[in-house]
Amino acid sequence: MTDRPVRLDRPVTDLPGVGPALAGRLADGLDIATVRDLLTHYPRGYQDAGDVVDIAEVRAGEPATLIGEVLDWQTRRVPPKGARKRPLDLAEARVRQASGNVFGVTFFNQRWRASQLAPGTVAAFSGQVKRFRDRLQLASPDVQVLGQVTSGADAAAAAEQLRHQRLLSVYRATDGLASLKINQLIDDALAGLPPIEDWLPERLLDELDLVDLDAAVRGIHQPPDHATRQAARDRLVFDELFSLQLGLQWRRRRLEAATMGLDNGPVTGGLADGLLLALPFAPTGAQTRAMTQIGEDLAGPRPMHRLLQGDVGSGKTVVAAWAMLCAVDRGRQAALMVPTEVLADQHHRTLSDLLAPLGVNVLDGIRVELLTSSTTTSERRRILGELLSGQVDLIVGTHALLEEGVRFADLGVVVVDEQHRFGVSQRVKLKDKAAATVAGDPTGPDVLVMTATPIPRSLALTLYGDLDVTVLDELPPGREPITTQLITPDQAHRRSKLEDFIRTEVAAGRRAYVVCPFVEESAALPGRGAVEEHARLRDEVFPELQVALVHGRLSARDKDAAMAAFRAGEAQVLVSTTVIEVGVDVPEATIMVIEDAERFGISQLHQLRGRVGRGGGRSFCVLFAGWSSALNDDALERLTAVATTTDGFELADVDLAIRGEGQLFGKAQSGLPDLKLARVQDDLAVVQTTRTLARQLLDDDPDLEHPGNATLRTEVLRRYEGGLDAFAALETG
Ligand code: ADP
Ligand code: MG
Repeated sequence: MTDRPVRLDRPVTDLPGVGPALAGRLADGLDIATVRDLLTHYPRGYQDAGDVVDIAEVRAGEPATLIGEVLDWQTRRVPPKGARKRPLDLAEARVRQASGNVFGVTFFNQRWRASQLAPGTVAAFSGQVKRFRDRLQLASPDVQVLGQVTSGADAAAAAEQLRHQRLLSVYRATDGLASLKINQLIDDALAGLPPIEDWLPERLLDELDLVDLDAAVRGIHQPPDHATRQAARDRLVFDELFSLQLGLQWRRRRLEAATMGLDNGPVTGGLADGLLLALPFAPTGAQTRAMTQIGEDLAGPRPMHRLLQGDVGSGKTVVAAWAMLCAVDRGRQAALMVPTEVLADQHHRTLSDLLAPLGVNVLDGIRVELLTSSTTTSERRRILGELLSGQVDLIVGTHALLEEGVRFADLGVVVVDEQHRFGVSQRVKLKDKAAATVAGDPTGPDVLVMTATPIPRSLALTLYGDLDVTVLDELPPGREPITTQLITPDQAHRRSKLEDFIRTEVAAGRRAYVVCPFVEESAALPGRGAVEEHARLRDEVFPELQVALVHGRLSARDKDAAMAAFRAGEAQVLVSTTVIEVGVDVPEATIMVIEDAERFGISQLHQLRGRVGRGGGRSFCVLFAGWSSALNDDALERLTAVATTTDGFELADVDLAIRGEGQLFGKAQSGLPDLKLARVQDDLAVVQTTRTLARQLLDDDPDLEHPGNATLRTEVLRRYEGGLDAFAALETG
């Protein structure tokens, strides 16, 4: 042990008693490498004095956490026995609880415990309760020292008082690292850590009534009471959200400062106008409002960064197509990036259909191409060449668009669909493609981001802190209502009724989807496989019908063929995995059957259901659940929500409430720093405050250059380190 002060960005091995083995367990089990990592491993809860049990209430064989005052120690040496060749040092303490009850604690070969836990020490002991002779004891428990009983005072009363002075933090533990061990490490770290410098100015803390950073970090781990714990949390949540908003908005300002917008404003009498005239329907009010807003962005002096949100079927594609044509009207190109091949295919087809009246891929028409990883090498070479020469106007594609070698002559508009599946950095990357074409080109394309399913406002403001938001809050007329039913195994007879119903519907010219969670069944995961279900339906259930199959492991050709057959009505039933989750549009499909529905998330179910009700008549969604695995409460809550409402925004809120943003907002998915404490739905007010605050701050100091903002700058860059490659690029470039 050294007396060097502990530093936040040093490895945990700087801490007393942390050797390579323990450091390895911290790294492997909890992803903790530095002291800072350790101190941001926040308690997942707190044990209140009231939760700590008395030895009189526990039985041998149970785990327990007991708090008490060490009375005395006895040590003895146990001679070698059997296979054990060496003697054992056995130390046993008697510990008295506030109730006056006494229990024993034993340690083997840990003599130092007697000095760590001298008589008068109050500590929490956590471990398995054993019976030894007539007494209950804890053998080799985890220990956290809570304090000392002051001499002369009544020991029991003092212990009682200590118990009430301090909450015991409970940490997420891992193999070989109990919560109490983490407690002890954190105590050691905090004991050696000089006061933490605050990155926020005092004036702001006063204004917002926040405690300083040092108090917050200590208070979250060692709160004497709930008020302190709460104040600490408030401050740390603020830090997480403020640095996030500041980072996102700062990056946006830098991009804006570095890039000038292109004038992609709508041209009267151009192709975009032509599209609207050629539509077989009138745009909804919401679509018109969205196009007006987007049109202003397109014409504006700065590149557009807009998020277009709308429920499934609200008609985002038309809006996107319109924006893309605006670029073409200005002699530029547009790209649409989507997360899956099936969706790329679908969009390519939809765009081609929508634009058909304007002339697609004909002499003097609009050139539309598709680029995915299954595009053949020669096709790819041709397309890349024509993209670079400017012959291709619109390109639809997957991640393949991000590859090296994809260059545009003059990229004007970028649309990213189903954005929540792409990382922020990927969004930025596609944008950067435009600039990469001409070295030193100071202009940047307009970017429109679309989400597949609505995301809650709280999450939109957080996740897309750098985007303006448009919501399509109106569905096109003529939408058929969708009846959703949940069928559990106790209603087995309903399966054959459904099969009869599908026959009737098909006879009336309608079609059905059957979605399975897996491509093939396996022993490892219970649930239906599309391959087996396809064979069963084709051979046993619907021998008189054509049943097609589509899943991700098929070749692009087989996938295309299956989709084409279903679209054309040559196949009336389509068995698939979730590859049809987004975007697929077959109006005659009126039945969506989802097998093992408990295996899907809310937004997935909502997306799948959105494949029906598209104009072919009254529609049905049938959720089979609990057939291959038992339904837990969360699953039941999800399925019930989906069965009771078709409002995507409402479902998004339920989803967020059930899952928490941990999963919706994972580091890997979003490319953003972790939110460890913030819960955007509960902390919506803080999301809004920090968003506004960040904006005001950057209005005054767009590049965080004022000396007074130096600590903010440092903190944001530190938090984004490695998370947003765009930041690193900006800093060096
Ligand atoms: P999403 O927002 O889910 O991407 P789409 O763009 O796929 O929705 O549109 C769903 C369906 O609604 C498509 O078949 C599209 O042609 C149709 N549609 C879009 N806008 C309108 C409208 N204003 N009136 C009628 N139908 C529309
Ligand atoms: Mg869509």
